[in-house]
Amino acid sequence: MSELAVRMAQAGGPEVMVLASVVLADPGPGEVRIRHVACGLNYIDIYHRSGAYPLPTPTGLGMEGSGVVEAVGPEVTHLAVGDRVAYASQPAGAYATARVMPARCVVRLPEFLSFEQGAAMMLKGLTVQYLLRKTLPQDGLQSGDFILFHAAAGGVGLIACQWAKALGLQLIATAGSDDKCALALRHGAAFAINYQRENFADRVREITGGAGVKVVYDSVGATTWEGSLASLRPFGLMVSFGSASGAVPPIALSALAGKALYLTRPSIFVHLSSQAATQAMADDLFEVVRSGAVSIEVENRYALKEVQQAHREMESRRTTGSGVLLV
Ligand code: NDP
Repeated sequence: MSELAVRMAQAGGPEVMVLASVVLADPGPGEVRIRHVACGLNYIDIYHRSGAYPLPTPTGLGMEGSGVVEAVGPEVTHLAVGDRVAYASQPAGAYATARVMPARCVVRLPEFLSFEQGAAMMLKGLTVQYLLRKTLPQDGLQSGDFILFHAAAGGVGLIACQWAKALGLQLIATAGSDDKCALALRHGAAFAINYQRENFADRVREITGGAGVKVVYDSVGATTWEGSLASLRPFGLMVSFGSASGAVPPIALSALAGKALYLTRPSIFVHLSSQAATQAMADDLFEVVRSGAVSIEVENRYALKEVQQAHREMESRRTTGSGVLLV
């Protein structure tokens, strides 16, 4: 049966993404076929499309989705035909009406979550799960600790604001406009700084009484790197997990010496390397949503054929929160 999928022959601008007919094979060992209801939009899709994170071409795009299991390959024991499911996974290929993919990345979607929420929360929510719960400095995060979270009004950011508040953390948000700052505050950030207008490192020093924060979560990269290091307290942890403004230039290790800083550059896909790890992280995420501490709101909806527009809006910093492509 023929399906529709977004494909690109080479990296480039939004125009390289085209809708094409594809024929799906039956799922092989360890695989399932999923009929999508929604596909998540993530900034990593921009890196893939633009070539900032190169993919072998031709390729599909998209790392997150939700839908219904349509066929199950041999050796898959945790899923059955008809299950409502969601996933965050490699390889790329979620922007499609249906796909065949490794079952170990896929979890059952609880009834209290809609398909749209499932597609909007897996990659972003599991990222926040590992950032706040697994990427800890030497003595862990404690209630009352200050953390700095850049791009806090984005998809990952709004989940982080809510989850950090639930953990009792004082999240200092940065965002690119006053409206975005207000949004981060409404989602639980303790403070918000418009880093287009203000020197965020100076403001962080003021807010923390000169001490600095325990952890910086930096997905912006080139434009925030220096200020992020300056915002850390001694023995603080720099978590560089993205580069929306461009890659961080090569650094001298001596840049960490003055405050004996720790540095990590994590990837969610290392955390999601087994079905057991994925399920444990998803259970933690589902529970924080079920409890009401974190709400998953879909801010931006597009049809699959509007994928170019979706990328243009995301890339030009016009979006807030999570977005999905509806199939
Ligand atoms: P967002 O919705 O947060 O969009 C990216 C945001 O980055 C923009 O909205 C913008 O917010 C900010 N930004 C700052 N400078 C620029 C710039 N020059 N161009 C474009 N945007 C800029 O995306 P996601 O929620 O999908 O992802 C957030 C980040 O987390 C991304 O960098 C992503 O790659 C990273 N990530 C990393 C993972 C990992 O495991 N390493 C996993 C998942 C996501 P503002 O206008 O407020 O500055």
